[in-house]
Amino acid sequence: MIMKLENENDLDNFIICHKCFTLHEEVAIADGSKACCRKCGYILYRYDSKLIDYGLALSFTGLIFFIIANFFPVLKIDILGSEQFITIPKTIFSLFENQFYIVGLICLFFIFIFPLMIFLINIMIFSMLKLQRGTKLTKELLIILSHIIPWSMADIFFISILVALVKLISFGQIHIGISFWALMVFVLIDIYITKNIHISEIWMLRKKVLLSKDKD
Ligand SMILES: [Zn+2]
Repeated sequence: MIMKLENENDLDNFIICHKCFTLHEEVAIADGSKACCRKCGYILYRYDSKLIDYGLALSFTGLIFFIIANFFPVLKIDILGSEQFITIPKTIFSLFENQFYIVGLICLFFIFIFPLMIFLINIMIFSMLKLQRGTKLTKELLIILSHIIPWSMADIFFISILVALVKLISFGQIHIGISFWALMVFVLIDIYITKNIHISEIWMLRKKVLLSKDKD
């Protein structure tokens, strides 16, 4: 079968099954339901308008915990009677101070800039969907989001803190700070969002909410 695509947007009407790679034509489905692959039964897409409020609430909560995690100390260490407070920005800053520029830059992007951008972009996209505007901007933001998500390593960062914690215990007394718990909640929300709210689902939602409105 030869398909002639008039323009790039025509591609939007087709969807490939991620499991068996069968091409399907996308059809409108009811709110709260899902479309499955005809061949293998894999879920192709979902449509759930409740995802807007849900996504917005989750991204806002994540952002608040991210801010807390960066403002307060993650750990407090007593070494030979002197107290050391360890915060995330201070740690990144000290890497630059000690001329570990590459490691510093990697940390800055992977554990600070990218996670922050993911949450900010999610908030912007869900807010615009809620307000039913920004057809073009939401498309651009979703494209940026799809590029950043694979590079957000907040979960790996959290695990490395745990590893460092185990090693530091032998040096002196360690007290876990507020940021440690905030970071834990942030990482859990981050994992939950990236694993459960797929970009394809937001894409679908955008199409339903914004593009159908444009046609009216
Ligand atoms: Zn399939």
